[in-house]
Amino acid sequence: MPYDLLIKGGHVLDPGMGVDGRLDIAVTNGVIAAIEPEIAAKDAAKVLEVRGDNRYVVPGLIDVHTHVAYGATTAGVGMGCVDPDVGGVGSGVTTVLDAGSVGIANVGVFGTHLIPSAKTRVICFVNVGTYAHTTPSMADVNRMEEIDRKTIASCIQANPGLISGFKLRLVGPIVQERGEDVIRLSKEVASEHGLPLMVHIGDGRHPDRARAGELTRFLLKTLTAGDILTHLCTPNPGGVMTVAEAAASVVPEVEEARANGVLIDSALGRGNFGIEVARRQAELGVRPDTTSSDLTGGGRRLGVGLLDSMAKFMSVGYSLSDVVRMTTSSAARGIGMGDALGALAVGREADISIFDVVDGNWKFTDTLNQPFTGTKALVPVQAIRHGELFAPEWGPYPWGWLPEQA
Ligand SMILES: [Zn+2]
Repeated sequence: MPYDLLIKGGHVLDPGMGVDGRLDIAVTNGVIAAIEPEIAAKDAAKVLEVRGDNRYVVPGLIDVHTHVAYGATTAGVGMGCVDPDVGGVGSGVTTVLDAGSVGIANVGVFGTHLIPSAKTRVICFVNVGTYAHTTPSMADVNRMEEIDRKTIASCIQANPGLISGFKLRLVGPIVQERGEDVIRLSKEVASEHGLPLMVHIGDGRHPDRARAGELTRFLLKTLTAGDILTHLCTPNPGGVMTVAEAAASVVPEVEEARANGVLIDSALGRGNFGIEVARRQAELGVRPDTTSSDLTGGGRRLGVGLLDSMAKFMSVGYSLSDVVRMTTSSAARGIGMGDALGALAVGREADISIFDVVDGNWKFTDTLNQPFTGTKALVPVQAIRHGELFAPEWGPYPWGWLPEQA
């Protein structure tokens, strides 16, 4: 029996590799052994039949903005996290990046518990603020001293390989007061360790939209190649639009940053997706490099997830191919893992997602509570990591995966 697993009859879509058509994929020892138009079922120990015109086989999906520090944050206190496998393989996603759910004070849980026990690949970006979401005000950095350069260095030295980057939320009183200093210091810390800095923009409570916008422009000028801007489509103060109105344009610093190698991500979550902003940006040709979920414990019960983000961008007019590229090859490249993730190729790890595209008249709501509809929803079918199959969890709604009908 030459193969362990055969994924047979699927519509394989890998925009990064220019593949879009019916192909069989064979897996042995967790590695892709063959991708061909026809591989005989008798040659495999296990055959996964992929039937139906709307069922797609894609490279393992990558969610570059999640909150999966499950057990490191406390339910009912600040931001809740989900189990990595709920947002990961249980949602048809094979890689999740935790975007600063915890600071160095409790990042240890990733090394001791979360990464070893998860079936999903978990990448950890630590918050630059020592205590992250556990601080009393729930803002990440309450005092400049919470960006504790010395202890961060000792944390990184004591935990080689644990931390893949830093996260800063451009939110809260100290950011409103001393934003440039917070950005400068965070960037210095990241540079000191040769790691990327991911920055959340959009501060719903900022009293001064002009000032918040100015700070975001400063941020975009400070970020360098490998860094990540997240929440491109936020309608909140600190977003990238010049004015709040429909005729807004995007500040030029976005494309300048992108040209410098900064990844432009569009994590949606519940708090940072404006449908009008997303539509206007699409009209202007300002497209995010990646989309992601900003999945939290609360969001999980309200539909938030990577497939939901992809469906929302399809409602704006992005094609299936666009959103798959954003969550596979572009995401892999954006987090510096383009050589290992985000493509289906012989010799690569068998890291594969299978989902259905379901037609309907689906009801969505944005951050400003503006309803909108889309004609496509995505439902996970299987996730495959290192050749192992994972069925999806129940889904984010009490009735499963599909959004409500409009
Ligand atoms: Zn987040």
